Amino acid sequence: MLPGGGIGPELMGYVKEVFRCGGIPVDFEVVQIDPISSGNDDLDYAITSIKRNGVAIKGNIETGSLDTEIISRNVALRNELDLYVNVLNCKSYPGIVSRHKNIDITIIRQNTEGEYAMLEHESVDGVVESMKIVTSENSERVARFAFNYARKHGKRKMTIVHKANIMKLSDGLFLETARRVGKDFPEIEHNDMIIDNCCMQLVSNPHQFDVMIMTNLYGTVVSNVICGLVGGAGLLSGKNYGDHYAIFEPGTRNTGTAIAGKNIANPIAMLNAAVDMLHHLGHKTHADILSSAIDKTLNVDGIHTPDLGGTHSSTDVVQNIIKYVMDATKSMKWF
Ligand code: ADP
Ligand code: MG
Repeated sequence: MLPGGGIGPELMGYVKEVFRCGGIPVDFEVVQIDPISSGNDDLDYAITSIKRNGVAIKGNIETGSLDTEIISRNVALRNELDLYVNVLNCKSYPGIVSRHKNIDITIIRQNTEGEYAMLEHESVDGVVESMKIVTSENSERVARFAFNYARKHGKRKMTIVHKANIMKLSDGLFLETARRVGKDFPEIEHNDMIIDNCCMQLVSNPHQFDVMIMTNLYGTVVSNVICGLVGGAGLLSGKNYGDHYAIFEPGTRNTGTAIAGKNIANPIAMLNAAVDMLHHLGHKTHADILSSAIDKTLNVDGIHTPDLGGTHSSTDVVQNIIKYVMDATKSMKWF
């Protein structure tokens, strides 16, 4: 468990409380990361811990500093663990007022390269060069993951998002690779769309999208757009996968520093990350219990924090969820 900064620690406290009350069989090793410490010992320790445990739940770690020596902990973790794909399931909650109803879109995002390569330099005074790295290897891995995901989940349509009309080589490689991989999945229809048009289409008619695949920076922008469409930063979770490790976290990766310590942060995104983690660990029953408790709290009881237009506190939401989780786990039979 990497609580991170801002609202991370309080949200992790809720996760622990829900797990404790529900007797959910996961022990957490809590690892603090200090983004302004000198050196990278904290990062190395976190990476070792995740390698040992195979899986992590994570809050966002703020890297406010523009000092080029201080690298983003979030990016470094994903790169070091080779978590090359990010999956965000954006599904509307019927009980939440939002711009569009019945959205069900999955974003699959390259998670380790593109504009996040952190390779920037000032070549001469006043001229900065920033490298966007696209490799056929990573494009292929992400595309295969995406099409396999679509097949496994009975999805019918894939949209490849790019700007290959301008970035002909980098986005061109990503686009061509995804198209080629798509040929191995004839049952899944695929089209492609330029990122700017894609953003417009998303806000005007999101229902045309099913699964979307894109490079790293477009992925973070589009993820935030869709989270905004279904109810904001406090709801959805995101999954980071590689071949060996997985990290679960809130989908929009916000630190929430301005709302920390006020008992108003929406705990749902982190609890959804906990649901994802339980699925990944094979605790299907507990994942379903927690997921259904979240569902009833939001859609039936209408217990909403202020970001969703409600008047409830974070702890109101958590207590309501705990009530359902305890009811459900009490009636579980142990053999
Ligand atoms: P960043 O981490 O990128 O700086 P912020 O922390 O400012 O982003 O988050 C963006 C917005 O989303 C802010 O208005 C913040 O209050 C809101 N937000 C983020 N997480 C939550 C949450 N769990 N509940 C409610 N609002 C949230
Ligand atoms: Mg952010």
